[in-house]
Formats: sequence, C-alpha cells, structure tokens
Amino acid sequence: MSHDPSHPATTQIHHPYTAPEGFESPVVPVYKGSTVYFPTVADLRARQWVDKSAYTYGLHGTPTTFTLEARLATLEHAMHVLLAPSGLSVITVVDMALLSQGDTVLFPDNVYFPNRDFTRHELARWGIGHAVYDAMDVDSLAAALTPEVKLVWLEAPGSVTLEFPDLTGLIARIRAKAPQAVIALDNTWGAGLAFNPFEMRGEDGKLVGVDLTVHALTKYPSGGGDVLMGSIACRDTALYERLAWTHSRLGLGVGANDVEMVLRAMPSLSLRYATQDAAARRIAAWAQGQGGVRRVLHPALPSSPGHAHWARLCKAAAGLVTLEMDPSLAPERVDAFVDGLQCFRIGWSWGGPVSLAVPYQAKGMRKLSTPYEGVLVRLCIGLESVDDLIADLEKGLRRL
Ligand SMILES: *Cc1c(COP(=O)(O)O)cnc(C)c1O
Repeated sequence: MSHDPSHPATTQIHHPYTAPEGFESPVVPVYKGSTVYFPTVADLRARQWVDKSAYTYGLHGTPTTFTLEARLATLEHAMHVLLAPSGLSVITVVDMALLSQGDTVLFPDNVYFPNRDFTRHELARWGIGHAVYDAMDVDSLAAALTPEVKLVWLEAPGSVTLEFPDLTGLIARIRAKAPQAVIALDNTWGAGLAFNPFEMRGEDGKLVGVDLTVHALTKYPSGGGDVLMGSIACRDTALYERLAWTHSRLGLGVGANDVEMVLRAMPSLSLRYATQDAAARRIAAWAQGQGGVRRVLHPALPSSPGHAHWARLCKAAAGLVTLEMDPSLAPERVDAFVDGLQCFRIGWSWGGPVSLAVPYQAKGMRKLSTPYEGVLVRLCIGLESVDDLIADLEKGLRRL
C-alpha cells in the first residue's frame, strides 16, 4: 500500500503478518507448542524469551499470539502488549508488578468491582494499602495522593453508572503531585476506538497520557461472548519489562485457539463498535422520559454525569446504557421487568451479539456518597435490530 492507512477498520485487516511463501491468505495460522525445538544446545541456551523472533517456550508465545499483540498495539497506539487469560488477570498482573509492601494503590469509587476486591482481599494481606477517590472530583483524587501511592487506576466511564471523568485533569494532578505513581487505565469501554489514552489534549491544550492500559478482550475485541482474554498495552520499554517479568513469572499464557478467535473478530471490531454505539445512543435517547425511568445514564446524553468530558475527548461511546429506575419502584418489580424482556438476555459481560440486561441495587454499590437510589438496570446493546430492542423495552416498561 502506498499511503499509510490509519483507520482501525483498515489496520485490523491489513497488518504486516507475512505468511510462508506460497501460503498467503487472510488468516493467521494457529501456531501451538508447549515443547519447542532448538537446532543445537547452544541455541537452546542462547535464546531469550523477550526475543520474539523464535520460540523459547510455548508459554512465552507463538507467532499467533505475537500477531494479536501487534494488532492490539496498533489499535491502542502503544508499543508493547501482553496477553493474559482474562480481563481480571491483566489487572492483577499490573498490581503485582508495580506494588510492594508499604505502597498504596488508588482507584475510583466506580471502578470495575473485582479490581477493588483483589486489592482488599489479596494485596491487603501483603501489606499493600489502598484508597478510593471520587472519579468526578479531581480534588478528591489530589487529597489521596501521598508519597506511598505507586499506582493509580482510572476507568472511563465508571462501571455501571457510566459517569465520564475528567481524565486529563486527573492525570495532570497525579503527574504534579505524585510523579512516582504509574497511571493505569482500564480501557475496556473505549476498546482503542473511542479515544487515544496515550495522547489526550487537556483543557489547557497540553498533551497528557496514561502509562498503561488494560483491556478485557472478552468484550468488544472477542465480540462473541465466548472467549475470555485480557491485554496490557504500554509505550515505555522499561515499564513493559517490569510488567513482562511479573507476567512471565506468574506463568500466564493464553491458548492459541482462543487467540485465533479474537484475531478472526478484529477485522469487524470497528464496525461492530460503531453499530452498537449508534444503537445505544438511539435507545438512550428513546428511554429518556419513559414511564418508570428516572434518568438515563449514557456519556453522550447532555444530562449524563461527565458528558462535557466525554464530548471533549471521545469520538464514540460504546454500547452500554444504564436506566436509573424510578426509586419508588420496588426492586422486585424491576427484577420482573428484566425477567420479562425477550430480546435482552440476563447475563454478565458485554460486547457480544446478544443484548443483555442486569439490575443493580444502587445502595451499597459505592463506598463514597452516591446520588443514585433504587435500582439501576445496565443494558449492553448487542447487534439485533434497534427497533426490536426498543419494542422489547417499551412492552416491558408498560408491564411495569
Ligand atoms: C469485563 C471487564 C473486566 C474483566 O474482564 P474478564 O475477562 O471478564 O475477566 C475488566 N474491566 C472491565 C471494565 C470489564 O468490563
């Protein structure tokens, strides 16, 4: 190709994988090997697992896994990528690589819950402290930035409640007050398509970026609701090496068959994401003002918390919408509303072809104060006809 195509739809299809001569086709073969051969003992001794030009041991990767790493690096505008068996496992690798006894990790109150749970139950036993900040209040984060803070988690938007934080404002505060801290973003929602977390322009026009991102490839990249996988992406080679050593010592490999499934889904990622984004926006706009719904949470709605931050940074908004139900509705009635939906299935995770609904009790969801009451119904929009999804919700709300 003579020009430099940079749209993710193009880069996820045309990528410099080279097939063995005479065997060119769109697919990347599934290379597997736990045992791998070396031509001589000297080769066996000389090869280093950080060198990806040849096998060292199956756990350290094959040409199939290296290809997915390279595609994800392109998508995320990063230099280095690591793969692990789930989205949660990449979060725990980051924690274990970067934190030692006496350190503190910070996360937003609306963080993906298992991230907080790992810290509370596992890291706490190793003498690692934590504190929670309000993602929508830069001062709340600044107050928590002590010299012990070595890692700060960001998430955009917040889990379930979908508030979009002032990412560049939060990062600027961390850089100013806690330069020793690594800044990590859970970018599962953005999927490498909504914004570039390594280069964001602050309100003052300055470029800021996170140090690393993690993705649950389980969601949009896999796109099928059938694979669990996670990735870590970063630009800095020294940081990559710290992460890669811990990742390697923990023995976290991914299966080449699972990687192949993600590789097959990557060329349609940007199409699926755009379709689910458009559908979610239509459903969010429709749901506003419907009986039984107090408020609709979706970053592209001007009434949703953090909308201005989203609008400044993002080109897209993924496929999640949360309905804050009328707090006077008994939780059992909201459960019955969800039970009665036909197109929306009841289930965890998101990013696949099937729309999903899960009710959450607002009470007890947050540690800090929260404006939410009653029940929040999180909808993840799949690939069905939007008219059918709206008709399904409309019937359900009428039953309410
Ligand atoms: C799903 C999810 C994870 C964890 O991914 P798994 O593959 O299910 O472990 C992490 N972060 C976010 C934001 C998620 O939505």
